[in-house]
Formats: sequence, C-alpha cells, structure tokens
Amino acid sequence: MRIAVIGAGPAGISLGYFLKGTKNEVTIYEGLDTLGKKPCAWGVLKGIENYVTIPKESIISEIKGFKIFYDNKLIYDIRGRENLGYIVDKPLFLEKLSEGLDLKRNSKVQIEGNKIKVNGKNEGEEFDKIVLANGHYSLSKDLTIPAIQFITDHEIDNETVEMYFYSDLLGYGWVFPEREGSKIGIGGYANVDFLKEKLKTLVKGNTRAFQGARVSDFGVLEERLNGNYIGEALGTVYAITGEGIRPSIITSKIFAESLLEEKDFKKEFKKSKLYWTLQKHAEIIQYVKRSNNIKALEKVLMKSDPDMVLKFAMGDFDKIDLLKMFGRMIFG
Ligand SMILES: Cc1cc2nc3c(=O)[nH]c(=O)nc-3n(C[C@H](O)[C@H](O)[C@H](O)COP(=O)(O)OP(=O)(O)OC[C@H]3O[C@@H](n4cnc5c(N)ncnc54)[C@H](O)[C@@H]3O)c2cc1C
Repeated sequence: MRIAVIGAGPAGISLGYFLKGTKNEVTIYEGLDTLGKKPCAWGVLKGIENYVTIPKESIISEIKGFKIFYDNKLIYDIRGRENLGYIVDKPLFLEKLSEGLDLKRNSKVQIEGNKIKVNGKNEGEEFDKIVLANGHYSLSKDLTIPAIQFITDHEIDNETVEMYFYSDLLGYGWVFPEREGSKIGIGGYANVDFLKEKLKTLVKGNTRAFQGARVSDFGVLEERLNGNYIGEALGTVYAITGEGIRPSIITSKIFAESLLEEKDFKKEFKKSKLYWTLQKHAEIIQYVKRSNNIKALEKVLMKSDPDMVLKFAMGDFDKIDLLKMFGRMIFG
C-alpha cells in the first residue's frame, strides 16, 4: 500500500518507524525544515520503552521524581524508587527514529481527495491512504487550549519534574529540566494574558526564549476514528496533564498493527487502555468545566494517595482506581 503521512511529529514519524520494512511504502511530509520544532517540554513518561527504543543520545535525563503543587504550594513529593520517564531531546529523538524513512521536509501539504498538493503543486503520485498526523494544526480553537513556556537558565534537579495546578485555572503548569536550565510553562482554559500573569509566578532565572502553541484538551475525536488520523490530530493528549508524545506513539503502534493485520483501527483503538484512559481524563475536565467547579479537582488532589495521583496522571489506572479517586464525579 502507498501511504502518505502528513506531519513528522511523534505520531507521523513513529507510524513510519512501525511500518518500516513491511509491504507498505510510506512517505512522510513535513512542512518545516527541522523535526521537533513545535513548542513542547519534552517529557515522555515510562511505558514508552514497550513501543520504541529511545536512542541513548536523545535522553537528557531520567525522571525519578514528581513534585505536585497546588496554588504554588507543594502537596506531593514523589521520588526515588523507579524510573518514571524521560526528558528527551525531541528533535534528536525524532531525527534518530526517522532514519531510513522516506521523509520530505519543507513540504507543506494540502489534501484534495486522494491526491495531495505539496507547497501548492500537485504531487504526481496517488496514494492508497492519506494519514493526517499534523497535530493541533488541524484542530479548531474550541478543541484546544493555549500553552506557553519560557526556556530559562534556571537549574533544577534534572531527575525531577514539577507539575502545578490552581484553584482559579482549569489547566496545568510545569517546570521540566532541560539540557541547560529548565522549561517553565502553563496551559489552560484562559486567555494568553491571564496565562502570562500566572506564569510570572513560576518563572525563575534568565529567560532564553518564549514559545507558545495550542494543545488538544477534548480527548479522542470519535468522528476522526476513521483510519485517517493519528496523534494529536485525533485528540490523543491526556487532558489533565497535557501529555501527548507517548499517547501519540502508542496510537501509531495500534494503527500500524491494525493495518498489518488487516483489522479495523477504530475497533482496535477503542479496545485499548489508552483510549479509555484518555477519554476519562477528558470527561473529568469537561465535567469540571461544565460545572465550573475547579474545587472538585482540588478535593481529589488533596485527599488521594500520592501514588494513585501519579498513576492517574500517567494513565495507568483502572475503574476501581477511578472510583476511589473521583467517586460520583465520574460515575454519578
Ligand atoms: C507548550 C507545550 C508543551 C508540551 N509539553 C509536552 C511534554 O512535555 N510531553 C508531552 O508528552 N507532550 C507535551 N506537549 C504535547 C505534545 O507536544 C504533542 O501532543 C505531540 O507533539 C503531538 O504529536 P503529533 O505527532 O501528533 O503532532 P505534532 O508534534 O504537532 O506534529 C505535527 C507535525 O505536522 C506538521 N504539519 C502541520 N501541518 C502540516 C501540513 N499541512 N503539511 C506538512 N506538515 C504539517 C507540523 O509542522 C508538525 O511537525 C506539549 C504541548 C505544548 C503546546
């Protein structure tokens, strides 16, 4: 099968990677000249090793601790026992994963039926399948929230990530280590001016860059489960934490396996734990948004066992965990 993949983020590149050496010929089109340019804090949680080997040179640090803050007050400090994930150099990670793939950079695509236009010109070839892996760029504003971050020279323990939640913002802040300094950001249901003000309370050190992008916050879009979308374009971001790299890669794995085994992607994806956990995150955010009750999340954060909070954040939970944490909020 001739497959065109539009977008060379984690979803598009990993789909090419999973289909490499199979009977499928995959061409990946990327609008930009460099991979991994989209603003991102580069945190990838554990479990990713079951899908791809992370090239050693792209690992900036291993995450061994999580600090969770509420209204800038430390409420949980979870650390030490095991690897919880990685901070990766995302451009390098994607470059390494893309080795041996047919990747066309500087190639902005428009789709017309089963043909594509690249940089405004018809691409001669026809494809059997066109897969959109173009991330939040294909999502409308009402399905995404703004997220902004500073890159600063503020040094933090490179094995610890910090997550921030607030009583007056449905969203999240973060301080993640990077090669030299840290990435300090915030995203949520608010305008950028409000986010900037809140970010001022987090930011430390001399800032080297300021970046922003939108991020999906509505879970998986059922109408896009038609075999033409993967990754964030499909909505595969954990709504409560904004984690999108690992879920996008897992989605591509399920997509590739469905293709190779001639199974229906929609059915296979909906059977997966990933789908269920993504949707639960999204349902909780939508519940809180509808009821305008951010305090409900505060109660859950304050009363839950820290290990459970971590499991929930990482998408490693089942119905019983959910019932223990959220009770009627989710099953009522
Ligand atoms: C500020 C911020 C911080 C974040 N931090 C984290 C984090 O620490 N950890 C985490 O897991 N997630 C994080 N996320 C989310 C994560 O970045 C995304 O969910 C993830 O990159 C999605 O991967 P993707 O491949 O689906 O899409 P993307 O990474 O968005 O890739 C899509 C690609 O498609 C290309 N493209 C778009 N349109 C076209 C076109 N017409 N033709 C050709 N190419 C096109 C784009 O240039 C881009 O390279 C963050 C998001 C933001 C905004």
